[in-house]
Amino acid sequence: MSKRGRLLVFSSPSGGGKNTIINALRKRHPDWGYSVSVTTRAPRLGEVDGQIYHFVSREAFEKKIADGDFLEHEEVHGYLYGTLKSETLRRLKNGETLCFDLDVKGALHIKELIPEALLIFLKPPSKEILIERLRGRLTDSHEEMERRLERMDMELSLAPQFDICIVNDSLGRVVAILNEKIAQNAPTPTSR
Ligand code: ADP
Ligand code: 5GP
Repeated sequence: MSKRGRLLVFSSPSGGGKNTIINALRKRHPDWGYSVSVTTRAPRLGEVDGQIYHFVSREAFEKKIADGDFLEHEEVHGYLYGTLKSETLRRLKNGETLCFDLDVKGALHIKELIPEALLIFLKPPSKEILIERLRGRLTDSHEEMERRLERMDMELSLAPQFDICIVNDSLGRVVAILNEKIAQNAPTPTSR
């Protein structure tokens, strides 16, 4: 697999801050790209198809699995999510730094396929704060939130397998530290 770009993979329990932190880092680095996954989840208010996800039916997703279109895919909270293979490899070949928002199993799967990937785990400061943040996001029903919280213990148990594990307390602090750690741990293709 020819790959000159960098893979920065972010995982956390739902509401742990992946989107927020990826967006803050990409503001500092406008040349960093975002890997747009395919999902069977319905769009949330304001989510535009092709920007954060490609929204498809379960049938269309299963056809993509059968066609071998995914680098990895997982079922999370009852929906299917997958990373497109050809798109990812094309962008890495072009030398892009690509940010991925993946569940813990997808992240570890990517690391197996591409060991240079840098895996970053965002830990919530506490379960209470995570619930507060999920509530504040106003995107999930009570049942949906419960389903998302059910996975938290499994997700936290896999955190030690990540390259970087950081508590997402103060946004400014976390973004500054990650910015530094990414520069140290994932050198740009030109500085390799
Ligand atoms: P994820 O993408 O992991 O599901 P989000 O990035 O959507 O999580 O964050 C969930 C909620 O928590 C959002 O409303 C976001 O604004 C808030 N949030 C994320 N990080 C912080 C932080 N460090 N301090 C305060 N609120 C945060
Ligand atoms: P959400 O529905 O909150 O956007 O995402 C739910 C979970 O699916 C999150 O943990 C997110 O990281 C994960 N996810 C999103 N895209 C992918 C993907 O392509 N592959 C995997 N394995 N997980 C994904």
